[in-house]
Amino acid sequence: MVIVLKADRNLEKTAALKKRLRERGFELHESKGETSRLIGLVGDTSVLDIDDLLAIDDVVEDVKRIQEPYKKANRKINPENTVIEVAGTKIGDGNFQVIAGPCSVETEEQITEVANDVKASGAHLLRGGAFKPRTSPYSFQGLESDGLKLLLAAKKNTGLPIVTEIMTPEHLDLFEDVDMVQVGARNMQNFQLLKALGKIDKPVLLKRGLANTLEELVMSAEYIMAGGNDKVILCERGIRTFETSMRNTLDISAVPMLKKMTHLPVIIDPSHAAGIRWMVEPLAMAAIAVGADGLMIEVHNDPENALCDGAQSLRPEQFDKLMKKIEGAVEFFGKTMN
Ligand code: PEP
Ligand code: MN
Repeated sequence: MVIVLKADRNLEKTAALKKRLRERGFELHESKGETSRLIGLVGDTSVLDIDDLLAIDDVVEDVKRIQEPYKKANRKINPENTVIEVAGTKIGDGNFQVIAGPCSVETEEQITEVANDVKASGAHLLRGGAFKPRTSPYSFQGLESDGLKLLLAAKKNTGLPIVTEIMTPEHLDLFEDVDMVQVGARNMQNFQLLKALGKIDKPVLLKRGLANTLEELVMSAEYIMAGGNDKVILCERGIRTFETSMRNTLDISAVPMLKKMTHLPVIIDPSHAAGIRWMVEPLAMAAIAVGADGLMIEVHNDPENALCDGAQSLRPEQFDKLMKKIEGAVEFFGKTMN
């Protein structure tokens, strides 16, 4: 990190700042240019907040980071691709996996039928929301703990590992038998939740917020990893842009960029990105081509009557067709599905 000092800085406050930085364990390298003076900081600057330094505005002109503020997720620190195992299913570094299922668990019949269908089509993990973060308090909020029980029963029947969303650390006990915990877009910066997930020994699927930068997403992953849980999978699910013809805009470039920034697996959720059933297939193909490690796709046995996200949910037979295309594309790009 480099601190640019003001030409007309307050000398007493400059000395105080330098003393404070040395006391915090940083080595200071000063250089004097013709018009400016710089301090190069050597040490773990991830603990420093740029805004705190800029607040000392009668000393500090500017602050530039040279190293990224994330460590554990950083590819520079861990150059190898991380592979995350979810109940024996490997994701990352050439292992491509498909997570499929309804937006929310609605009834025993629904989740049983969809679980059997997606399994028969070759899905590797079953999804289904029990606790649903809905924009309106009047919309279906999920079956909550009863929904989790139904999802666990579907896991038992099919043998598929399950992925479901957690909204508060208070529910962690209920998630004991869940194989991968999902943090939804709306909770990407729920720091109390992220800290709690840092303390568990379970993979976390972290979805990008509706209007968050990639660095913010990685910093949220860093929260979980800093707590001791390294098993984080990142998910791009579309972001808010000025475009209104789709529910969101899939930021396809997030995949190569996240892979440059981090060593974590990255998956794409084309369902929430598009919000429209017919667009799920082209976006899924794009995800494979751009190097994603997996897909999360919403499938419903009766999408017209779905309690949540019916318009973007594939019918089981459409998912079956798509899986065949996915298998071909994954193979074409040199990855494996097992
Ligand atoms: C979901 O996966 O059903 C969901 C609510 O997704 P997101 O958090 O990306 O909106
Ligand atoms: Mn949904």
